Amino acid sequence: MSNEPKLPEIERGTEVFAVDPLTIRTHFEVDYVHSYKQDTPFFHGLQKHKLLGSHCAKCNYRYATPRSHCMYCGGKTEWFELPVEGRVHSWTVCYFAAQEFLKDVPFTLVLVEFEGVDTLFLSRLVGVERADIRIGMKVKPKFRRKATWSVRDVYFINAK
Ligand SMILES: [Zn+2]
Repeated sequence: MSNEPKLPEIERGTEVFAVDPLTIRTHFEVDYVHSYKQDTPFFHGLQKHKLLGSHCAKCNYRYATPRSHCMYCGGKTEWFELPVEGRVHSWTVCYFAAQEFLKDVPFTLVLVEFEGVDTLFLSRLVGVERADIRIGMKVKPKFRRKATWSVRDVYFINAK
């Protein structure tokens, strides 16, 4: 047995995705402090169990998402409360996701359309089997009790 100094061997293997060029997985984690700035009322709305859209003060184009200025005429927008019910415009089942959501796969993403609103809202659809999802089915938002202060504080369920 040698008495030469030696670093301990790494117990966990490294995933190799490609040999040439060598492509491997490396863990990466960072705390990210940021401001929601003009979108702040949207996130406060989620805590009050309200979904806020924005409409253009000049041309009245209605967005299902926060938007400080109109993408068509550049006018400033104002907040309004989205209807309490929407319909499935489109949907997909995700079998892969960013690391944070891997534990949840498969999950369903849905684009929700609201009466009188010109754009769609992307969210999760929960509690509906894939075979039972229909384009046009009525859905309603549910809100998490404990805030993550992200769009994950709202998801959709069947409105029946
Ligand atoms: Zn406009």
